[in-house]
Amino acid sequence: MTRVNTVLGTIPAEELGFVAVHEHIGYGMPGSELDDTWWKTPEERYAETVPKLRGFHERSREYGGGTFVDATGICNGRDVDYYRSLSAKTGVHIVACTGFVGGDTALPFFARASTDYLTRQFVHEITVGIGGTGARAGAIKVGVSRGGRMTELDGRIYRAAARAALTTGVPILTHLAVDAETAIAIFGAEGLPLDRVLFGHADDGVNAEKTRDMWIAEQGGRVGFDTFGYETELEDPPFWARPRRERLAHFLRFVGRGHLRKALASADANCSPLGWPGVKGHTVNYLFDDLIPDLRDAGLDEASITTLFVDNPAEFLTIQD
Ligand SMILES: [Zn+2]
Repeated sequence: MTRVNTVLGTIPAEELGFVAVHEHIGYGMPGSELDDTWWKTPEERYAETVPKLRGFHERSREYGGGTFVDATGICNGRDVDYYRSLSAKTGVHIVACTGFVGGDTALPFFARASTDYLTRQFVHEITVGIGGTGARAGAIKVGVSRGGRMTELDGRIYRAAARAALTTGVPILTHLAVDAETAIAIFGAEGLPLDRVLFGHADDGVNAEKTRDMWIAEQGGRVGFDTFGYETELEDPPFWARPRRERLAHFLRFVGRGHLRKALASADANCSPLGWPGVKGHTVNYLFDDLIPDLRDAGLDEASITTLFVDNPAEFLTIQD
């Protein structure tokens, strides 16, 4: 039987339904939980988050359920007890990640750790559980630090992630798809098949031009167009925003070259951001309210939409025995 780790237990991949593969319950910089200017009470966090997840659950019904992959990892506000309660209350499957968004958000304790130590940490979170929660991580997050080139620490995390992915069978998702040559060299040296890696944020407004998405797919990697909704048309767009039509055209070019099975899409939205205001009005439900209608208008059929949001992520998240 296929298996995927969610925060409430292991489920068959067939039960995932519609998957938002790169999202955040609440992303914050390390330490933001200690900042009383931005600290949100539990009541505020639930009040912001529950309606979004309930909406997601409602819209996912026609796909047999909904799964929210929280791509936050260690040190950036991950709060697994809270995720478990959200999942139980809303019916949305939540997959939590081990790993780090990038070396530059790993606290010194981890930044100074050896590759072996990091590997053991990731494997423990995947096979035993995260902290004392008993919830097992279902994916490993890695990323390139700000600057666009992989640092020595990023590389150590990538290598540990590859080893943990091989040991446990869970996949890796990356923050940024830049410097993919270095990443692919590390995964290759470790013997990790590239279809176990989702190279994320290939579509963001800063790096899209220099991201070699077609090349990554030709090497066997999966490519995440996962910042849908961060648009320059917003009232106060973030610096990584991009014109809506341009991003859509980029995605359709990728799919049009025969890479639909390599494509994953998501909104990278925060239900309740920590320590930063977030982007007004942007939620995971952008996928249903805006992206899917855009894809239909562009001529993508329902079977392709199901491939993109159901089949591809199920295959990606399935633990390899
Ligand atoms: Zn993200």
